[in-house]
Amino acid sequence: MSEIKVSKFGGSSMKDHEAMLRSARISKEHKADITLVSATYGTTDLLHGLIEKSVEGKWNECEKSLFTIREKHFDILQNLTKDNLAGEKLRELVNNLETLIRGIYLLNECSEKAKDRVVSFGERVSSVLFTEAMKMEWPERQIELFDSRNILKTDSTHGKAKPDLESIKIESSKYFNFSDKIAYVGQGYIGSDEHGSTTTLGRGGSDYSAALFAEGVGANVLQIWTDVAGIATTDPRICKTAKPIHEISYDEASEMAQYGAKILHPTTLVPAMRSGIPVFVGSSYAKDEKGTWIKESVEDKPLIRAIAKRDGQALLTISTPKMLNAYGFMGRIFDTFTRYEVSVDCVTTSEISVAVTVDKDTLENKKLLKDLSKIGDVKSEIGFTLISLIGNQMLEKPGLAKKIFANIEDINVRMLCLGASAYNFNILVNDKDGEKAITNLHAEFIG
Ligand code: ADP
Ligand code: MG
Repeated sequence: MSEIKVSKFGGSSMKDHEAMLRSARISKEHKADITLVSATYGTTDLLHGLIEKSVEGKWNECEKSLFTIREKHFDILQNLTKDNLAGEKLRELVNNLETLIRGIYLLNECSEKAKDRVVSFGERVSSVLFTEAMKMEWPERQIELFDSRNILKTDSTHGKAKPDLESIKIESSKYFNFSDKIAYVGQGYIGSDEHGSTTTLGRGGSDYSAALFAEGVGANVLQIWTDVAGIATTDPRICKTAKPIHEISYDEASEMAQYGAKILHPTTLVPAMRSGIPVFVGSSYAKDEKGTWIKESVEDKPLIRAIAKRDGQALLTISTPKMLNAYGFMGRIFDTFTRYEVSVDCVTTSEISVAVTVDKDTLENKKLLKDLSKIGDVKSEIGFTLISLIGNQMLEKPGLAKKIFANIEDINVRMLCLGASAYNFNILVNDKDGEKAITNLHAEFIG
């Protein structure tokens, strides 16, 4: 084998039988050795809804959702093949899902562990269908469906499991036998812990799975196929003038992902960077468009490359006058966040207070808030959007801040973060101003 390639197709690329066939043709054209797929479009949301309804004891609604899931997938299958074996597999999976949902309904509760089991059906079902699409489009190869859970070993943090790279490497080398005669199909997003229980890598985690498989098998290239032709200068859904980026460094792309560009899961690039695997992001709907290459170093290094937006932000301010001229205040605060594994995005400090931005779900963690309140008065506010300008050498450009503020004159900036990295400049604004700030800044810096 000269080159090993890992490809991943997201939910939008698994929308219906046509999207599946189109994606399978891309796998063939690029000779993907491993192809990982997400659940079909919208199915993960349906599964989350199903869990909620079963816990609430709404069996009629559960039946409706189960019916929708069943119909949707059998419909795709019928358009792909009349193969009975695939139909059997699909039937068995959906029946298992129903049994599990009935169990949750009877118990009136669903553990995080059970939730992972339920949502894993999305990927397991779509991979059965996609295998059929691959068989049709790529008859020259033997198409082998495998269960990612046997390879992607993780810890037991259900809902957001941490991968165990050593085990992934061992399981990969035991299982895969790459050659130009075989193409493997597996599921993104799911894994299993040491007891064999199903785990998931967190929302959008299929990108991360693909990167872990790429690292695990020592791939030369990782391809992420989605519904847009690569990474754009900002979310094309928000800003019609968003432009494609053909090349971007790992550092810039990581900042984009971290600061909310939904195109990539924030942790995707960690394995790729660690192992120096170049990542391609392209559209499964327009495979011949140029797409984006993410790699170690790139030639063009513009001051502002892109603008990302992360909504659903909360601002936590911890203050205590006792800390005037004392030390240890920050240490205690960050120890507390670490203990609860909460990631903090932006930080500003004064002598007696520290303000941090966190995802608003963090405010549901009452234990964390209680522990923080032992350190000082805690004030929490919600309704913010973090806007990040991402680029290069941003700390060496006189007048940059002035230019930024001139373009958002009538928008109230609640917090400002700059200085920790040459790759970004972050401002926190009210949700209602987020899109306007992006549009104005994009027009000024990118055009
Ligand atoms: P998939 O199901 O393939 O994983 P996602 O919906 O997770 O797809 O990600 C693709 C979406 O990311 C695009 O449709 C686009 O709206 C959004 N997006 C956000 N920021 C950007 C950006 N800077 N460039 C391109 N797409 C972006
Ligand atoms: Mg995604």
